Amino acid sequence: MNVSAMDSPCLDVAGIGAGPFNLSVAALLAPLVEVRSAFFERRPRFAWHPGMMLPGAKLQTSFLKDLVTAADPTSAYSFLAYLVAHGRFYRFLNAEFGAIERREFADYLQWVAGRLPNLLLGHEVREVQFDGDGFVLHGDGQRHRARNLVVATGATPYVPEWAPARLMCLHTHQYLERIGNVDGLRIAVVGGGQSGAEVVLDLLSGTRGQAAAITWLSRRQTFEALDETAFINEFFTPHYVDAFHRLHPGRKAAIVARQKLASDGISRDTLTQLYQTLYMDSMVRGEGSLLRLLPHRDVHAMEADSAGAWRLTAHNGFDGGHDVVDADLVILATGYLTRLPDCLAPLHDRLDLDADGRYRLQRDFSVQWDGPAANGIYVQNAGRHSHGIAEPQLSLAAWRGAVIANAILGHARYATGDAALPIEWASGSGEAAIDKAA
Ligand SMILES: Cc1cc2nc3c(=O)[nH]c(=O)nc-3n(C[C@H](O)[C@H](O)[C@H](O)COP(=O)(O)OP(=O)(O)OC[C@H]3O[C@@H](n4cnc5c(N)ncnc54)[C@H](O)[C@@H]3O)c2cc1C
Repeated sequence: MNVSAMDSPCLDVAGIGAGPFNLSVAALLAPLVEVRSAFFERRPRFAWHPGMMLPGAKLQTSFLKDLVTAADPTSAYSFLAYLVAHGRFYRFLNAEFGAIERREFADYLQWVAGRLPNLLLGHEVREVQFDGDGFVLHGDGQRHRARNLVVATGATPYVPEWAPARLMCLHTHQYLERIGNVDGLRIAVVGGGQSGAEVVLDLLSGTRGQAAAITWLSRRQTFEALDETAFINEFFTPHYVDAFHRLHPGRKAAIVARQKLASDGISRDTLTQLYQTLYMDSMVRGEGSLLRLLPHRDVHAMEADSAGAWRLTAHNGFDGGHDVVDADLVILATGYLTRLPDCLAPLHDRLDLDADGRYRLQRDFSVQWDGPAANGIYVQNAGRHSHGIAEPQLSLAAWRGAVIANAILGHARYATGDAALPIEWASGSGEAAIDKAA
């Protein structure tokens, strides 16, 4: 039964955070009358990366990789159910989208959130304790008890050490909230991934005013495309994740590093749009571009000048030189880090963390800890080191949700199988995983 946690003596499952990953688990558990679950989200209203909901920005994943379809295509919480509920199934098909807009997917997520009986918005979990029998979640003046936890609190914006004061820089996660009017400003955008590219395009569009200059710095050798070809997409399948999880832990980091462009590149459409904008400005209109592109640059210093602006210094990996960029506004498109959420601090000593302080996650996304086996702690979006490149992506959200739901239920309620092509990722003679949980 899905009931408000206030009425529930002890929940079977408490979820902390409700971004897409926990929404998936919530949507899979919601129809199961035998399971009491509640998912706590601190935002008063559901929102998916609102700071980067830029007009025209596209989803980098198929809309079929929604919250539930891969595990339960009959679910009432699928993207197709959303289209039908909004009476736009035929229009959507006729529109023939290669990739849908991020805004539509966000609206779908919000629609699901609004229908889930086991989602509690405006509930921040501040601390989790274990009382010997269950987890006690403390919020603002509220307490809830649960047998199992599913933690999906998202990633933390990464601010590089050279950025002197967080408030002086604008990280992309707050872009729409904080950008304001840029008339006459010299702007530096640091970071050559999808978010950096979207911000540069947005600034060039003039929607935020007319910047005086935009400089885009990236550590990468050039502005590199996301690789979405078929064999690369195999990395985002349950079959590959299983093979990766079984690998010797010592081999994993190097493999993930070599897969960077499978998840961290710029969409082809975005790159083409950017290139065509530059071409029109520089070659056809002959106006010269506002944009200065500095690839292969590693920013290592940021200092205030006497006029209150910023001076960035970057090393050029191409010729070994140095560049100086003066900017009134620095935008960090520097990505995100995974860290353990503060609310789990009382449990830290009981969790089995690796030498880098990361969770040791088992194949079903449960954390090894010294508590009773009946009390599971499942964590999502924190296992790139253990489960591989697909971990922070939407691609396997429904599958991962199903794996977690099945583990909690103790039986295979949802489909998680995956027929394989004759691709042999592992050799029988390879190094065996000495530590299956790492
Ligand atoms: C701009 C952007 C676009 C992306 N686009 C794609 C894409 O197209 N395809 C793809 O595969 N991946 C994409 N990703 C990557 C990934 O899919 C998303 O980051 C996704 O949102 C991760 O989901 P999540 O549930 O782990 O975290 P989040 O979406 O960050 O959600 C975590 C939630 O937990 C809540 N929370 C945190 N702490 C607490 C607490 N103590 N108590 C209660 N609530 C709490 C937060 O308020 C938040 O709502 C994108 C990422 C970004 C930044």
